[in-house]
Amino acid sequence: MADAPLPQRTLVLVKPDGVRRGHVGEVLRRIEAKGYTLVAAELRRADEALLAEHYAEHAGKPFVQALIDFMRSGPVLAAVVEGHRVIEGFRSLAGATDPTVAAPGTIRGDLARDWGTKLIENIVHGSDGEESAAREIGLWFPAL
Ligand code: GDP
Ligand code: MG
Repeated sequence: MADAPLPQRTLVLVKPDGVRRGHVGEVLRRIEAKGYTLVAAELRRADEALLAEHYAEHAGKPFVQALIDFMRSGPVLAAVVEGHRVIEGFRSLAGATDPTVAAPGTIRGDLARDWGTKLIENIVHGSDGEESAAREIGLWFPAL
C-alpha cells in the first residue's frame, strides 16, 4: 500500500501591500491552482502585540519596527493552508524575500518590486518550518 500523505499546514498572510494592490484573489488562486486546501481565511487588522509575536525571530533587527508598522498599515488576509509539504510548497510559490531577484513565475517575482523605500514589500508571508507554522497558526487562529 502506498504511504498515506502526511497532512501539513502553513500560515499564509497577504500583507497590506498585497491587499491594497488587489492581489488577494491572485494569491488564493495560485494556492488553489496548486491543489492546496484553504482551511481558514480572514481579513484582519493585526495589532502591535500580535505582530511582535509573529516576528519574534526578528526581534532586535534594525528593520523589525518598520516591518511591524507596515504590517499595521492596513488589513492583511490571514489564511491557513493545508497539503502535503505545503510549508515548502508555499514558500516556493512565494519566491525569494527580495522581490527584485524573486524568480518570475513566483508571487513575489511577478507581483512585487523594490520601490526604493527602506521596506521590503513582498506581498506575502509563509511560515518557514513546522515549528514556526504551528506557532503562527496558534497565534492567528487560536481556535484551530
Ligand atoms: P521571508 O520569510 O521570506 O518573509 O523573510 P524573513 O523571515 O527573513 O523576513 C520577514 C520579512 O521582513 C520579509 O518578508 C520582509 O518583508 C522583511 N525583511 C526581511 N529582511 C529585511 C531587510 O533586510 N530589510 C528590510 N527592510 N526588511 C526585511
Ligand atoms: Mg520568514
